[in-house]
Amino acid sequence: MTRISKMKFFSAFLILTTVQVAHAQNPKLSVHWEELTGPDFVTAIHQAQNTCILPIGIMEKHSPHLPIGSDLINARYAAIHAAQQNYAVVFPEYYFGQISEARHEPGTVSYSRDLQLALLQATTDEMSRNGCKKILIVNGHGGNTSLLPYFAQSQLDKPHDYVVYLFSQRTPASGGPKKKSTNDQHAG
Ligand SMILES: [Zn+2]
Repeated sequence: MTRISKMKFFSAFLILTTVQVAHAQNPKLSVHWEELTGPDFVTAIHQAQNTCILPIGIMEKHSPHLPIGSDLINARYAAIHAAQQNYAVVFPEYYFGQISEARHEPGTVSYSRDLQLALLQATTDEMSRNGCKKILIVNGHGGNTSLLPYFAQSQLDKPHDYVVYLFSQRTPASGGPKKKSTNDQHAG
């Protein structure tokens, strides 16, 4: 090796080592399930201590002034920001909830009762198979408020190697922007 090629070799080694150390010290794993690489996913599940969040919304009309995906957007925003503060892996967009009462409205996507339950069970089963043993469902849609407690309670009908928790407090008593009226319901 000439002196110049030795220096090049040494510089490349230094850069590689620095990158590896930086990665080990500050992996900055994404909380988004779909943004992780396969190897990073394994690290992420370990870092999350097997805790995963499943934010659930819907596709429905929200008056003339709000997007059809409002409930999904809100639930995901809260879940993603919570997971960034206290690391957990957040499942991709899930809007396969209950909305039979508004299926006549433009843009509404309404799945059958059987499909809602079957798809949710298959999803939590698949999350568990990937290492999510504590699954927190975060609900963003009023029409899911009977479906999800029933789903969680009926997990006892057969043995599972994971636990489903349900967070359905869509209007917290404190925090958030000031409201114009005390009765602030769907789409304001
Ligand atoms: Zn809704």
